[in-house]
Amino acid sequence: MFKKVLIANRGEIACRIIRACRELGIETVAIHSEADRDSMHVKLSEQSVCVGEASASDSYLNIPNIIAAAEISGADAIHPGYGFLSENAYFVEVCEACGLKFIGPSKESIKNMGDKIVAIGLMKKLGVPVVPGSDGHISIDDPKIFAMAKKVGYPVIIKATAGGGGKGMRIATSEKTLQNAIAIAQTEAKAAFGNSDVYMEKYIEEPHHIEFQILGDKYGKTAYLPERDCSVQKRHQKLVEESPSPLISESFRKKMGKTAKNIASAVKYITVGTVEFLVDKKGHFYFMEMNTRIQVEHPITEMVTGIDLVKEQIKLAAGEKLYVVSEKVKILGHAIECRINAEDPDKNFISSAGKIGKLYLPGGPGIRVDTHIYSGYTISPFYDSLIAKIISFGTDRKESITRMQRALREVEIENVKNTSSLHVKIMDNEQFCSGKVSTDFLSKHIFGKQSVE
Ligand code: ADP
Repeated sequence: MFKKVLIANRGEIACRIIRACRELGIETVAIHSEADRDSMHVKLSEQSVCVGEASASDSYLNIPNIIAAAEISGADAIHPGYGFLSENAYFVEVCEACGLKFIGPSKESIKNMGDKIVAIGLMKKLGVPVVPGSDGHISIDDPKIFAMAKKVGYPVIIKATAGGGGKGMRIATSEKTLQNAIAIAQTEAKAAFGNSDVYMEKYIEEPHHIEFQILGDKYGKTAYLPERDCSVQKRHQKLVEESPSPLISESFRKKMGKTAKNIASAVKYITVGTVEFLVDKKGHFYFMEMNTRIQVEHPITEMVTGIDLVKEQIKLAAGEKLYVVSEKVKILGHAIECRINAEDPDKNFISSAGKIGKLYLPGGPGIRVDTHIYSGYTISPFYDSLIAKIISFGTDRKESITRMQRALREVEIENVKNTSSLHVKIMDNEQFCSGKVSTDFLSKHIFGKQSVE
């Protein structure tokens, strides 16, 4: 097992990883930017190193400084968390060259899954269903794109090959809007990922986002865990996740789960990852992408299975054998996660920064809160807006919703606008409570807009 792990991240996930390390008897080294000196993860860790100025490119993405911090502090492994360098194959290569274990899959897995076109090509070879679309990336000047879109059938969605976080995605409903959608998606993709390559897919109407947690060890054993339903989204970004999905039957779970496990086995996947699918109105499922890291929404899987995914991830990276057998995993209840973002839901989700005054976070039976905020903490404008995850667990979906409704009403984060009031509306919504939720739920049932942009 590792002796000392450097955590190349910040916020709630850095705190989560420090806690897992502590339970495993591993020392930790936190890194932080100059803006994050007073952050919770710095306080929780035995050791900490400042790796640069506030902007992420100077600090949490600064590979030379992070590696230097690991070497100076004597760490033997690096946990990347999610975001930042977690899906950067070059970073894995540098870690390996410096004798530091990267807590994640191989650089090949990251490379192959990080490019959505490569990943889709691989899925086709494996016989996994994919959404009909262009074969590879498309060019705005190619006159063939019109025939291609017609064949795929409008509406189509233009997506960034390097995509993530719902960025670089645009829907075209007709020939008239196609080139414009490509241009916007390309510009957004270039700004977000430094790569303007895009491809085309059929836009599945009113789909469900269903994903499977997978695990793998270095001896070739893999497993899947019960699904997460992440259909409550704002601009293609997840806002609420739940497990199990109210949509999925036992046999469908097995079918999709086995597909996810086969994918993990085919790419010789090590540690933890997620295979994401879209499910259409007819109940057909399609591979969407694979995330080669721990996900924001991992706690709901932990609640329903009793498996500590971060500890498992670390153990698997250290070479331990996978003990999980999918068929033996029991669903212990129902879990929901609400992402509390420092954004104003009444003002088009504009971000909110500033110093937190009074702070009351919920507790009581069935409530878990993963957060890095505290009273007096200043939310920085430099990073992701996620400030807390409230997770509810109940014996069934109804109890999980009731507990979440109760917990959300206990939240008070003085001075910082946040999404907790929006979550109250979602949890109280009849459509949500009925369990019939597709990805257009928020715009249709909360904001009262049409589904296709
Ligand atoms: P990202 O990597 O940016 O998260 P994904 O490919 O995972 O992008 O897609 C994010 C979300 O965008 C999905 O959950 C879904 O709501 C929507 N989406 C993506 N592709 C399609 C599609 N072909 N049809 C309908 N919705 C889609």
